[in-house]
Amino acid sequence: MTRSARPLRARIHLDAIRHNYRRAKSLAPRSRALAVVKANAYGHGAIAVARALADEADGFAVACVEEALELRESGIQGPMLLLEGVFSPDEIALVERAGLAMVVHCREQLDWVLNAHPSRRLDCWIKLDTGMHRVGFSPSEFAEVNARLAACPHVGERVAMTHFARADELEHPYTLAQIEAFEQGLNGARIGRSLANSAAVFAWPQAHGDWTRPGIMLYGVSPFAGTGSNANMDAGDLRPAMTLESALIAVRDLDAGEPVGYGGRFVCERPTRVGVAAIGYADGYPRHARDGTPIAVGGRLTRLIGRVSMDMITLDLTGFDEARPGDPVELWGRTVPAGAVAEASDTIAYQLFTGIGRRVPLLHEDA
Ligand SMILES: *Cc1c(COP(=O)(O)O)cnc(C)c1O
Repeated sequence: MTRSARPLRARIHLDAIRHNYRRAKSLAPRSRALAVVKANAYGHGAIAVARALADEADGFAVACVEEALELRESGIQGPMLLLEGVFSPDEIALVERAGLAMVVHCREQLDWVLNAHPSRRLDCWIKLDTGMHRVGFSPSEFAEVNARLAACPHVGERVAMTHFARADELEHPYTLAQIEAFEQGLNGARIGRSLANSAAVFAWPQAHGDWTRPGIMLYGVSPFAGTGSNANMDAGDLRPAMTLESALIAVRDLDAGEPVGYGGRFVCERPTRVGVAAIGYADGYPRHARDGTPIAVGGRLTRLIGRVSMDMITLDLTGFDEARPGDPVELWGRTVPAGAVAEASDTIAYQLFTGIGRRVPLLHEDA
């Protein structure tokens, strides 16, 4: 994207992503870690993120062949897993050519793999549904599926995997039940295991297995943000990887009783200095952000007031006597945790990051 005069941009701190990847590795020191870079690396720019991790990542995970090919074409090597496998049998030719590993989660995919005639072996991750109830074989089917793949001469490495529904809920026994169901299905099979997303990397060491799959933690957000169970988890050592920043484009003083923005959602209780910043929901700032959502101006915290517009937001500058148009505004980053903005908008940081609009340039920085 060409650099625009509009002051809005997302600065991506590649050194922070490397730091966070190392955190994932040190929390699960006996496991290899697939850096999850699906959805354009959660909005951070998949090619740049994968390049920043290329020297140390054990591999990468993406959602689909298109995402994998983009990385391969930009020179990213090593293990690369398709988290949902292929959507049609023709894709297996691409998987083969690009040297990808694929999830096999259903009978159709299993048949496609077994009936393929690849010129190199296909690595298959057998997905078991241990309680998420989205995709995957039932644990009782594992032995049969695994045996059929093992007997197939063009199947290479096999790994057994599952995905947790509630790993961020530290008090809830559901994750233990999922681990138990997984191990029962495997019944002692000598096969690689992969269970852990970011929350499980932190909270469920018994689920680290041979391969972890950290996603959100790489981008510097605690997987426990908004769950109220932040408490004893050492997620604080993560470094925010994205600073979404813009600038003030207007500063005005309103009288008590004057409303601000669409619908007059916010009404000044007292004479109020109001700032307008160049960002709106068309850029991915959440339209549901409530009055009081944290924002920083010149490094100092304040709050959103009034409804978010398509291209602008309004914020409280009371007490910011020196504030001027052009002053920097941080929507989230090192001063304003993305998780706090997400919470104030009834969503999660994953959605904020992946919702960054096309007109927001990503600026990749490395220390
Ligand atoms: C997206 C995804 C992950 C990463 O989850 P985080 O919560 O972002 O760590 C791991 N495994 C699978 C199967 C996924 O789809």
